[in-house]
Amino acid sequence: MATYTCPICGQELIEKTGTYTCSFCGAIEQGEWICPNGHYQCEECRLATQDEIIERVCLNTDCTDPVDMANLIMKHPSFNDFGVEHHFLVTPVILTAVFNLKHRKIESKDIRRCFKRAENIPYGTCGSRGDCGACVGSGTAVSILLKANYMSDRERSLVMLTTAKALLKISEMGGARCCKQSVYAAIETFWQELKDILELPTLKSVPIKCEFSGMVEECKKERCSYFVKK
Ligand SMILES: [Zn+2]
Ligand SMILES: [Zn+2]
Repeated sequence: MATYTCPICGQELIEKTGTYTCSFCGAIEQGEWICPNGHYQCEECRLATQDEIIERVCLNTDCTDPVDMANLIMKHPSFNDFGVEHHFLVTPVILTAVFNLKHRKIESKDIRRCFKRAENIPYGTCGSRGDCGACVGSGTAVSILLKANYMSDRERSLVMLTTAKALLKISEMGGARCCKQSVYAAIETFWQELKDILELPTLKSVPIKCEFSGMVEECKKERCSYFVKK
């Protein structure tokens, strides 16, 4: 008999017909399999691509913590341990959290705009030219929220400063690439730099505890400030 595991918590799913709420997008539908911890994936989320799952989660959540949102999306089966999908993830989750805090709903066009700005960052740029795509995502979020461009004064500096500080954070931790670490560093840096300017609350998920600790190849373990021993 086939067994299925929950992408969110790893428990074996139970075959049980019922009306379930999707843990990713909040859709309610009839399902046949449910996680013992109540997690459920609707059919559309189950088949979603990387871009689609980012959009489905962001458009349907009232979550105000980008770390929680990023963790959920990174557990989706379309997400790999490493890959450019992490470049696309950072800006939408930051924007969604800030919008939700400001009682403004994120729209599909906002997410597309984030994707557009991330789509020309190749895989492995951390090592090949020194600009991790996830860290750039934190600067992109600043740029969009402060409506910065290359002619802006203070806003332009803040865009570059946020990306630079995120890069500094991951470079100081050392070691080989870890896209989960880069996502956490990017979000954490954005919040540190923009908290007062945008009047944002303190994130409950900080200090960040990596939910992928020891699970990804080349996990830096104790060398990474987000690592938690299990
Ligand atoms: Zn589960
Ligand atoms: Zn769903």
